[in-house]
Amino acid sequence: MNSTNAKGVMVVLSGPSGCGKDTVLNRLLEMDSRIKPSVSATTRKPRVDEKEGVSYYFLTKDSFEEKIENGDFIEYVQYDDNYYGTLKSEVEREINDGNVVVLVIEVKGAANIISKFPDALSIFLMPPSTGILEERLRNRGTDDEQTIRKRLAIAADEMEKSRIYKHVVVNDDLDKAVSTIYDIIKVYASASQSE
Ligand code: 5GP
Repeated sequence: MNSTNAKGVMVVLSGPSGCGKDTVLNRLLEMDSRIKPSVSATTRKPRVDEKEGVSYYFLTKDSFEEKIENGDFIEYVQYDDNYYGTLKSEVEREINDGNVVVLVIEVKGAANIISKFPDALSIFLMPPSTGILEERLRNRGTDDEQTIRKRLAIAADEMEKSRIYKHVVVNDDLDKAVSTIYDIIKVYASASQSE
């Protein structure tokens, strides 16, 4: 993608926990330097290998609630007993720089973004089946049994809401899913720039 002085665009990428959203985002970041992540804030405890300011901004409940009071979030939700939120500052910086900012967020937050910014590009990454999703959640070994059960229940609900997204891409083959999503983003970004 190339652009000079173009206004940036916002992309919302959702999909059930374990469907491969973060892997897709990382691949997109490697493919195109104009694609930038929106680093969310959360009150969830960091997992092994997660880094402050890269994976998330890890906040206490009090400081998250202070940011809510200050109006620092474009959207935030309570998910699986924790807060998660998209910071205005993250999105505004990339939009002002003319970049493609990707928000990897769950469906309630995405629904808020879609209603506030109807022009945002929204993509739902669908696992090939619930069986495969369960296998992926278990194989990554980051969550205990109770968390996996909760996440599978949330996933069923999320998949039902995939119809609110502009595009649904099935992640049965990672390379194919990444290139489909990249093509969708390129078309959208060039259409936005010619407006
Ligand atoms: P995880 O705990 O696995 O990192 O994330 C749990 C869920 O929260 C995932 O579906 C993830 O995409 C979503 N999420 C991460 N950041 C945000 C955010 O800022 N807002 C919303 N609404 N969801 C988020």
